Amino acid sequence: TKQALIIGSGIAGLAASIRLASKGYQVEVFEANSYPGGKLTEIAQAGYRFDAGPSLFTLPELVDELFLLAGKKPEEFFSYQRLESICRYFWEDGTRLTAWADTDRFGVEVEQKLGEPGVNVHEALSRSAFIYRHLSPLFLEKSLHRLSTWTGPKAMQSYLKMGKLGIFNTMNAANEKRFSNPKLVQLFNRYATYNGSDPYQTPATLNIIPHLEFGKGAFFPKNGMHDITLSVFKLAKSLGVEFQFNARVEEVLVEKGVVRGVRVRGEEVHADVVVNNMDMVNAYKTILSKQKQPKMLLNQPKSSSALIFYWGVRAIFPELDLHNILFSEDYKKEFEHIFRKGSIYEDPTVYINISSVCKPDDAPAGGMNWFTMINVPNNQGQDWDMLIAEARKNIIAKVNRILKTDLESLIEVEEILDPRSIESRTSSAQGALYGNSSNNRVAAFLRHANFSSNIKNLYFCGGSVHPGGGIPLSLLSAKIVADMVD
Ligand code: FAD
Repeated sequence: TKQALIIGSGIAGLAASIRLASKGYQVEVFEANSYPGGKLTEIAQAGYRFDAGPSLFTLPELVDELFLLAGKKPEEFFSYQRLESICRYFWEDGTRLTAWADTDRFGVEVEQKLGEPGVNVHEALSRSAFIYRHLSPLFLEKSLHRLSTWTGPKAMQSYLKMGKLGIFNTMNAANEKRFSNPKLVQLFNRYATYNGSDPYQTPATLNIIPHLEFGKGAFFPKNGMHDITLSVFKLAKSLGVEFQFNARVEEVLVEKGVVRGVRVRGEEVHADVVVNNMDMVNAYKTILSKQKQPKMLLNQPKSSSALIFYWGVRAIFPELDLHNILFSEDYKKEFEHIFRKGSIYEDPTVYINISSVCKPDDAPAGGMNWFTMINVPNNQGQDWDMLIAEARKNIIAKVNRILKTDLESLIEVEEILDPRSIESRTSSAQGALYGNSSNNRVAAFLRHANFSSNIKNLYFCGGSVHPGGGIPLSLLSAKIVADMVD
């Protein structure tokens, strides 16, 4: 049997291990941490459990597919529910709005609360579906870096629609044209943050994202987001995949342009195929430092990072749902701070994710587990301790104003994740959540290929390479890799 080695057990590394094992490979995964999942992990303290990284789950069928591939019934191992209410939005002037998955209901809500014709929402969502239909087969499910992708009939159809796909416009410009109420522009601009980009710079093509939530659905895994990691890890082990933890790969071994294996804990391990799931930029700086460097890709600006306060809150707020957004009064300024000043705006948009709304045992009775996150610049050596202290104060003041409470007195547990710890725990360059940013036309489409162009049998998967960051795209990267491996 052929041997495959995987560097990293992020969600893409796990998926790649299952796909290669299903192809008959003997697979061994080397993970630097003592646990699988990378960013998709959890934190627990004093009766509170928090999903530490991703909180929004879309395209769950990509997880199901891994079980089906292994001949198992997904629902016996991993279950999830579709959300009826996708997100609650709050503004400082007292406006509150629920984004209902039922788009007719959402249209009515928008008309009643914002005075914006519901039809504008329907049109925005059908444009989003249109972009998805045309881009997904071409850009998301295939390697962009193979000629066949560019010359097939699907590609031809998409070329004809380039203008309508929003490549020549920014997301904000497109949304301002469509909606009259600035609150709705803000709501739709927020989707740029789903891949760590700036709505005032990123192409309107990223208006593809709302379709994922409304058309395809937003989901919650019954046992929390971390269960994605746990179930998939268990599946990999049941297929005979071997895992080595606390095993940081030191070098990818290459001989005459062909990958030979890796060096880990000072020892050489050989294999026919190596799949790298480590962040692409840091991989070239460390384990591939002797190899040819893709300079243009390495120098692209990175996506934004996050500052998260995991707060055990000793109170129930019935107005809060699983996903909540407390919007900034000046969205443009907020993004200027993140992407141009490398700083944090004094009135940030606050995202509060509370899994105990769906999974009550994530918090003690009478409490809620608040994953409280703001978007922040990636790590460029800022004075984070100062920025974090300032942001904490501003976030609490904002929550107090909007929810009319005294949050500080209710916090009984606190953990913090910031760009520095995101980088040190998962080796993400500058703590960026989604690899290179998509803040210009080139970057949005050209990420690192899923294979090495000069080292045979070396492949790349994960959120820093093609097709992009986030759980669904990371899972697709593993699929593209497995399709390319003989
Ligand atoms: P990663 O999770 O980046 O893991 C890489 C793994 O490789 C790590 O375990 C690391 O230890 C290991 N590794 C690195 N170097 C080495 C080495 N030399 N040797 C061995 N092992 C090594 N996505 C969504 O879809 N929805 C969300 O709501 C969402 N929110 C997010 C919120 C936060 C706070 C964060 C941090 C991310 C969020 N994301 C979200 C993004 C999502 O988490 C990532 O895109 C995805 O998990 C990336 O997976 P990956 O396979 O690239 O690996």
